[in-house]
Amino acid sequence: MSALLELDACCKVYKVGAFGKKQLAAVRDVTFDLRAGEVVSLIGESGSGKSTIGKMILRLSPVTRGTISFEGQDIASFQHGRLKDYYRHVQGVFQDPFSSYNPIFKADRVFKLIREAYFPHARDGEWRTKIEGALEDVGLNPGDVLHKYPHQLSGGQLQRLLIARALLLDIKLLVADEVISMLDASTRIDVLNLLGELKTRGLGILFITHDLSLGNYISDRTIILRHGAMVEAGATARVFGNPQHAYTKMLLDSVPQLHSKWTPTPPDERARRVSEEDLEAAPIVIIDEDHIAAIGRPE
Ligand code: ADP
Ligand code: MG
Repeated sequence: MSALLELDACCKVYKVGAFGKKQLAAVRDVTFDLRAGEVVSLIGESGSGKSTIGKMILRLSPVTRGTISFEGQDIASFQHGRLKDYYRHVQGVFQDPFSSYNPIFKADRVFKLIREAYFPHARDGEWRTKIEGALEDVGLNPGDVLHKYPHQLSGGQLQRLLIARALLLDIKLLVADEVISMLDASTRIDVLNLLGELKTRGLGILFITHDLSLGNYISDRTIILRHGAMVEAGATARVFGNPQHAYTKMLLDSVPQLHSKWTPTPPDERARRVSEEDLEAAPIVIIDEDHIAAIGRPE
């Protein structure tokens, strides 16, 4: 089966500094694909280029080099009607749900733009039925959320409303950029499980997170990014179960374990520092079926 989304050697260089004379390589040669019904996690620390990748996929920021294809077509070529059609299939949901709402309007106003752009001929009753269906799909009771102001709803409800908005369209790919990060612990699992349900319905999801445990919970495949480059990628069980790159190991070591208490690190362990050289992305080598790492083993 061919991929829904394919990134081939994607790079993003931002011009920075007072006169835009300096360059910052935010994304370096990122290559991966995502199939229908698959959740791929993009994991990395803050500033590793995750959101930039999401924005390039959503055509909110152009690629500097490389290509992004959707169903085999280069998305850079999409114009007007074809671009609108692309957004019918590909939508993004972002970190801070509150920033997607205007506090002076009722929360369900976020559906209005979709109606105007994609369903201008829908009658009121028909539209209401469609919204109610989408709300039920994300586990919201229409009566609880419609006609409320954003401040009357929780972060989890607002996030689910945004996912419901995406579901009004015929979406095939959802770019979820840190959608769980700002939610309270009690609503996090609901939104996470909702993404799991959408996946079983055939939706492809790019799950962007800095949180390894979230990535492990939800994704089929995992990509570990550092300074804009892939250091390791593959089936989630393999990347988490048999990490190869020093950076992946370091990230995994730094996750606190739920069932153990903090204990002081023995001095000899503290001395065993990972060198900057080890953390860099070397040429990619194949570790196993569906598992690669940038460890550049000599041949
Ligand atoms: P992440 O989402 O992993 O935290 P980002 O993709 O937001 O990372 O940022 C990657 C790098 O690119 C960071 O160094 C960030 O400062 C820089 N960056 C992001 N957006 C811009 C921009 N619009 N202009 C210049 N630099 C940017
Ligand atoms: Mg980000």
